[in-house]
Amino acid sequence: MKSLYFLILITATIVFSSCMKGESVDLIIHNAKIYTMDDANTIEDAIAIRDGQIIEVGPEREILNRYRADEFIDAELKEVYPGFTDAHGHIMSYARQMLSVNLVGSKSYNEMLVRIEKYKSKHQHDFIIGCGWDQSRWKNDEMPTNEKLNELFPDIPVCLFRIDGHALLANDYLIKKSDVLNKVANDSELSSGGYFIYDSLENFTGVMVDNAMNPILDILPDFTEKELSEAILEIQLELYSYGVTGVHEAGLKYAEVELFQKLIKKDELNLNIYGMLLPTEKNIGFARKNGVYQNENLLIRSFKVYGDGALGSRGAFLKEAYTDKHNHHGYLTTSIKRMKEISGICEEIGYQMNTHAIGDSTNRLMLEMYEKIYNVNPDHRWRIEHAQIVDPKDFEFFAKAGVFPSVQPTHATSDQRWAESRLGKDRMIGTYAYNSLLNQFGMLAIGTDFPVELINPFLTIHAAVNRKNSENFPVLGFQPEEAITLNQCIRGMTIWAAYAAFQELSLGTIEAGKDATIVMFESAIHANELYSPNFAYMTFINGEKVYSVE
Ligand SMILES: [Zn+2]
Repeated sequence: MKSLYFLILITATIVFSSCMKGESVDLIIHNAKIYTMDDANTIEDAIAIRDGQIIEVGPEREILNRYRADEFIDAELKEVYPGFTDAHGHIMSYARQMLSVNLVGSKSYNEMLVRIEKYKSKHQHDFIIGCGWDQSRWKNDEMPTNEKLNELFPDIPVCLFRIDGHALLANDYLIKKSDVLNKVANDSELSSGGYFIYDSLENFTGVMVDNAMNPILDILPDFTEKELSEAILEIQLELYSYGVTGVHEAGLKYAEVELFQKLIKKDELNLNIYGMLLPTEKNIGFARKNGVYQNENLLIRSFKVYGDGALGSRGAFLKEAYTDKHNHHGYLTTSIKRMKEISGICEEIGYQMNTHAIGDSTNRLMLEMYEKIYNVNPDHRWRIEHAQIVDPKDFEFFAKAGVFPSVQPTHATSDQRWAESRLGKDRMIGTYAYNSLLNQFGMLAIGTDFPVELINPFLTIHAAVNRKNSENFPVLGFQPEEAITLNQCIRGMTIWAAYAAFQELSLGTIEAGKDATIVMFESAIHANELYSPNFAYMTFINGEKVYSVE
């Protein structure tokens, strides 16, 4: 009897341990070329994933022997990376652009008018909003006037945003309705942080820049929640198709935070969103109440401040006057007093301050302001968004004050067509200087600024590494000494972007314990030195397949 008991026990043990051969996981991706992006740049073959987390990354045999999984994916040697992050994008602006007349790429003023008429014939809106014109792509590179717009649309408001969002062209109907001329003339904050453009005969063209747009923005109707939600989900899908699993949303209104919350609650918005709040009273109240706010895939712990305008519309604030506009220096769009107030609030509640700074004067000002927080907290990670024109004398501040540069390499290759005419040859040293910035701080947060540029991260890589645009121009690269390496660029979209959002413990590399947020690409990034076209083959967020080409 006793021996029978032992026999049963031994048999049971054998059966039990054979069941246990291999720890159980949900998913194994194997036969892959996994760029973990860890400190040693380790490349591995296989990943075991359970409950949305990476359990182990390692050689093929080791992972397949150690684990048994509900699902296996044979990657057939495709490259796998941590999901890419766009460290500076505008989901909400892109959503509104998708719902407006699309003026991106229009080659002339007339083409713009044709597109508006087509849109008007198909839509029932009592307000026409268009986005994306860029006069530098037209024959004479002159700012438009609203003359023809008034003829065609005399009794409906028309508002057409320039590609950078820093200027708009309005028809007379809207100008009257908004009372913009009087309002700006009587408000020093509006008139000092923006301007109206007049033609050679001193007639108002209908173009206003930066803060001078505000009275019109105040009366602009918004699209419905349903329209916006649908557009947001379409953008999410576009991001996934490029392997982008996270966006640092550079400027959110309170109502937009609420919309994201709703879509997250419905489990429709799964993208990782690092939200930068616009410093409105409502948002400041939100930040004071919640502090660091994490709701599933939405993390909020920063404010976005607009320091100045854009170089294209001559709103960037420069130390010396513009080369192509006499005596014009650009301007600050937020007063120094207000910026100091916001930095005080950030310091008080432990938020990060992310300031849009294009001109060398704005960059210097912010670097000095940020130096104060460095003395209190050397790991503050406060960011300068764009850091586009930096006086070479000021680069050292990025190291000295621990300032995180957040850059968009496609801006360099888009702006190179006209940047020198704004700045002159001598001032080009220190512009779009990503390698110099990297050498100072040791990291870059890399994004696209979509919809100002395209979402496609491979154009970003091409611009950063080859310093060329999608047409492979210029042939020798734009200021090639400021190129960064492929590895550095991918770091800027993975682990460094994670650092820039305080998410390095859960995102940015493929390592045990982190979120299983990864992408497998159709073709090898390393095999094609033009990098594009390329797309995600499969995209995963927290172990869930959110996109697949099939
Ligand atoms: Zn932006």
